[in-house]
Amino acid sequence: FIIVCWVLLSFVFYVGHLVLVYYRRSLRHCIKRAIKNNTMEVHFQPIVSLTEGGFHEMEALIRWNSFRYGQVSPLVIVDMADRLGLIDHLTWMVIRKVGDFYREYPEQLRHIKISVNVDRHSLLKEGFASDLAEILEEYPELKGRLGLEVTETSVLDAAELPLMVSRFEHIKALGVSLSVDDFGTGYAGLDFLRRFPYDTLKLDQIFIASLKDDQFTRQILTSVTKLAKELNMELIAEGVEHEDQLNAVRELGVDRVQGYYFCRPLPKEQVIAWFEENASP
Ligand code: C2E
Ligand code: MG
Ligand code: MG
Ligand code: MG
Repeated sequence: FIIVCWVLLSFVFYVGHLVLVYYRRSLRHCIKRAIKNNTMEVHFQPIVSLTEGGFHEMEALIRWNSFRYGQVSPLVIVDMADRLGLIDHLTWMVIRKVGDFYREYPEQLRHIKISVNVDRHSLLKEGFASDLAEILEEYPELKGRLGLEVTETSVLDAAELPLMVSRFEHIKALGVSLSVDDFGTGYAGLDFLRRFPYDTLKLDQIFIASLKDDQFTRQILTSVTKLAKELNMELIAEGVEHEDQLNAVRELGVDRVQGYYFCRPLPKEQVIAWFEENASP
């Protein structure tokens, strides 16, 4: 009896394993095809300036609505693309789509900057800066308007530090601005802010979520706000969903806000419509 149970159980595990392997392989295959066939999309989320009362920038976020899997999380797409060695494809695809967007709506987007997320493998790839320079030649409309967002965790490896610093200097020399994404979650020391030529800090949304009820978070953010001012960096609060969060952020003196409270990431046509509706007088 025990042997029969054991055989049955092994069989069930084996089949389960095969299904999982099949699922992952098929997802990987679909992602590969979608990247190669350029069937992914980019959505845009406006970032609002509280004092100026308008919006001058947006973040570009990858979206993929798969026939088989529905909406797939950007984190899964990025992770898979990385394993497939297609992460550069993805990065340049998103930047090109941003360039196409400027071409399509030159008047409406004239004053708008757009930032793109870049993972550390793309950044570390040899020739990243020269590829970026090439794309700026191909899309002159991106010049002075493109920003890159790099997470704090992607620059933590001490061995890579010199390479990253020189990469960032090249990027800045091309007139492309740089933000630290998910700031405050990566355990970076202050040295990291000193070494890198960042323009903007994007406060991670976990801080915004606990800002209202947590005195400690408020104290930390008060200091971070001061620090950003001292270092001449802009500060953006990510993930503002409710009015009380907006008020708390405003009280801290954070000027720029990104979150569902104002607008979710939208497909390009809807973004343009949103702009026209919300244009400051
Ligand atoms: P991120 O760069 O920190 O982007 C902000 C994320 O927060 C987006 O999630 C956005 O939809 C979401 N968000 C914005 N406002 C709110 C809010 O008020 N509440 C909540 N709960 N969420 C809000 P999304 O689009 O799912 O992207 C997740 C992450 O995937 C991004 O985090 C970024 O790290 C990565 N990602 C997205 N697109 C790309 C891309 O084109 N390339 C790379 N390398 N990574 C990307
Ligand atoms: Mg980002
Ligand atoms: Mg973020
Ligand atoms: Mg994030």
